[in-house]
Amino acid sequence: MSSSDYHLHEIWDAGIVARMKYISTRGQTEPMSFSEAVMTGLARDGGLLLPESFPQVADKLAEWRSLSYCDLAFEVMKPFVDIPDADLRDLVDRSYATFRDPAVTPLKRVGDVHILELFHGPTLAFKDVALQFLGNLFEYQLERTQSHLNIVAATSGDTGSAAIYGVRGKERINIFVMHPKGRTSQIQERQMTTVLDANVFNLAVDGTFDDCQGILKQLFNDLSFRDRYCLGAVNSINWARVLAQVVYYFYATLQLGKSDGAETVRFCVPTGNFGDIFAGYVAARMGLPIGKLVLATNENDILTRFFTTGVYSQGSVNPTLSPSMDIQVASNFERYLYYHLNEDCSGVCAHMEAFAKGDGIRVPLRGGQVDPLFAAGTGTTADTLAAIKSCYADEGYLLDPHTAVGYHVAQQHLNADEPMVCLATAHPAKFSDAITQAIGEDLAHHPLLDALAGKPSRCEDMTADVDQLKAQVLKHVS
Ligand SMILES: *Cc1c(COP(=O)(O)O)cnc(C)c1O
Repeated sequence: MSSSDYHLHEIWDAGIVARMKYISTRGQTEPMSFSEAVMTGLARDGGLLLPESFPQVADKLAEWRSLSYCDLAFEVMKPFVDIPDADLRDLVDRSYATFRDPAVTPLKRVGDVHILELFHGPTLAFKDVALQFLGNLFEYQLERTQSHLNIVAATSGDTGSAAIYGVRGKERINIFVMHPKGRTSQIQERQMTTVLDANVFNLAVDGTFDDCQGILKQLFNDLSFRDRYCLGAVNSINWARVLAQVVYYFYATLQLGKSDGAETVRFCVPTGNFGDIFAGYVAARMGLPIGKLVLATNENDILTRFFTTGVYSQGSVNPTLSPSMDIQVASNFERYLYYHLNEDCSGVCAHMEAFAKGDGIRVPLRGGQVDPLFAAGTGTTADTLAAIKSCYADEGYLLDPHTAVGYHVAQQHLNADEPMVCLATAHPAKFSDAITQAIGEDLAHHPLLDALAGKPSRCEDMTADVDQLKAQVLKHVS
């Protein structure tokens, strides 16, 4: 290395050089820093934010093999952020100290596959991996700028509790979470409403999840209200959520390299909004040897149809045993589309405008497929129940219904040369009804969830009306 190179390297390490810039998939915003991207969420041109380029790390993998989860998270995230090293390290350490397993995301051999357990965080779902980090990151940025944030969210289940646990007790943040009254599972409702911290406000809306999302949209469209009261969102379009999820693809691949000598690995990902699997795509673009990303959907199969036919067209949403995947418009899909179109922003705009008008998006197939990196398949309700039953009977391992969809689809994409990692996105006890239905016995329990029954709770009712939501925010804003 020449001395001038060394000097540059030093400046880089001191955080003086602004690191990665972020651009919009629709190409109409000025490039911004990581901190701005995190606080902005959705780009002002309606697009999603992405790093200008992907750091190439293939030559670092051997060295990273022996790192702990937190040390690895630090290395993977570092080139993407504009936060001083010591602060990033502290953020990462605090975010994963709340996980109940020392490996954070342990990998377990189950029959022909490896299960990557992502559910050891405070709410027992994989969304904790991203939202524990995002909560601490928000707090850190707000402290730096001496400002406040009012997070408003709508949930049909898992996101609400993970977001609440990500920011509970944080001084500069209030969180308001709407859920459709009586339409989430008992456990999911109790997980949210038993959090009594002064900055947490649960709102039970008389209506459906779509009603909740509708008023959330109306609220965010009132730009003067939004700016005046510093409204923020935690939905899966926030880049920091994707970034936090990139880490466990590295972790699992490096673990398998160590134990099995595997050179390339396949991942099967139960998919809803395309956030989790997109993180795998980012890892692959950074040089992680991923042989295949196998996308698994339930009957709400818009993404499986896309990857097998090249057509992205909306169907109607059907409720299933895996409710967090009951999605027909995948909010992170636009990020993938941007790369699929070779970073052509005007192409993204044209496709997304057509889709918003109700037309499908069609991309050409090459060699009969949309993308050689992706395979896709669907697990029906019957497949889900059968997978839970057989995995328990044959391997003594309980799958939650989301993970079971992936486990089912994974069996059709096994390859002798590449180990298959199935992402386990929730603890089975979160969806114990499905387990009972599959096995005939109420087997799935977790002490944290069992303890919810006796706890005091707090929640306010409201009608599905944006003015009531505004009144709630106003009541609690100083
Ligand atoms: C959110 C969620 C998913 C889907 O993840 P996406 O990032 O939306 O694709 C799958 N399983 C569980 C349990 C979830 O909570």
